[in-house]
Amino acid sequence: MSGHTDSAQSRLTFAEDEARLPWLGLLLEMYNATDQGVAQGIRQAERQGRTLACARGCAACCRSHADIPVYPLELAGIAWFVSEKISGELRQKLQQQLAEHKANPSCPFLVDEACAIHPLRPMACRHFNVFDRACAEGEDAFHTRRKDVLTPVAFHKNKALAMMLRHHQVPTETERKARVADGSVHGLAQSLREVRWENLARRMKG
Ligand code: SF4
Ligand code: SF4
Repeated sequence: MSGHTDSAQSRLTFAEDEARLPWLGLLLEMYNATDQGVAQGIRQAERQGRTLACARGCAACCRSHADIPVYPLELAGIAWFVSEKISGELRQKLQQQLAEHKANPSCPFLVDEACAIHPLRPMACRHFNVFDRACAEGEDAFHTRRKDVLTPVAFHKNKALAMMLRHHQVPTETERKARVADGSVHGLAQSLREVRWENLARRMKG
């Protein structure tokens, strides 16, 4: 899922857009917390002799994984990024894929073997990292060899999820943490494959 992350983490910034879109800063903070946890988890595994197999151009996971959760705040981020930040030939190809996504088993954001929304890819994609051997075509390493799949650092993962709940007006930190701890936060997610991306394709054309 191309979830690999550079070891030197820095928060993405879109200053003008963040000033206009109050939720965007929160989303970018959430992704920064996620990426920090991923980088820490990879460093820990590397210290134990593991080698990250994920690399640019490796995308079997994006073609085959059927159930990638995506949360409302993430959907807002994807819609914004696709509508406002992607142009030219990539935009044309992506627009077509989004319009036809039901007929295609691959993730609609996989264009020419790369994630078209890489800076704004969902948390689930950021978390999914595999060690030592790249996934075979059609393999979901989570099921075939769980020990080779990164376990995200719980502190950072939970921090990111709790942060996201501010977007849903969960008022206190205590309540946000409780909704992460009892798993009810995941009730907000839907499967990336089941989103009606054709609506976004229409918006891109407009
Ligand atoms: S190794 Fe697996 S999870 Fe990593 S980028 Fe390649 S196909 Fe995706
Ligand atoms: S959004 Fe799609 S193309 Fe991008 S990393 Fe996730 S599964 Fe792959």
